[in-house]
Amino acid sequence: MSAAVDRDRLWRSHMEMAEIGATARGGVCRLALTDEDKVSRDLFVEWAEAAGCAVRVDVVGNIFARRAGTDPNAPPVMTGSHLDTQPLGGRFDGAYGVLAGLEVVQALNDAGAETRAPLDIVVWTDEEGCRFTTKTMGSAVFAGLRSVADVLDGVDPDGLRFGDELARIGYAGSEACGGFAIGAYFEAHIE
Ligand SMILES: [Zn+2]
Repeated sequence: MSAAVDRDRLWRSHMEMAEIGATARGGVCRLALTDEDKVSRDLFVEWAEAAGCAVRVDVVGNIFARRAGTDPNAPPVMTGSHLDTQPLGGRFDGAYGVLAGLEVVQALNDAGAETRAPLDIVVWTDEEGCRFTTKTMGSAVFAGLRSVADVLDGVDPDGLRFGDELARIGYAGSEACGGFAIGAYFEAHIE
């Protein structure tokens, strides 16, 4: 059995995602934990659930959309990236890694293919670091390089706290961040 990506569907998903925070000159401004970030997250969750994934959100807002495998105890194969952008961001940086993962799930679904391990599509919170203290905040906590409290207490130039903004957009999840094994991690990325 072979599974093939649908390049037209993959392109359409990028163009629809790029409308969220679209700038006049064809780019995207979707800073972390803004209203635009929320809308892009909501769209991803909607698409992932429509593709049959179970969605979890951890305490720093990382989103994991899981396509089940035949062995629920197998460590997941994970792929993903980020949906936040820099102020003068492009349409593909970050979004490609997320939407490519979603397309893989959809292609497997179309082919009726099962995998032994679960497949997780991840959206890391605040990769760009343009608003709060530093970049790659969500993935740094997942990797054990920063504490949850350190990230949640970060403030933006307006004095707004990371943890409060995360709750405001509805992505202060209940899952612990990290602490589970990953079988493999792949990330497609366009800068
Ligand atoms: Zn990026």
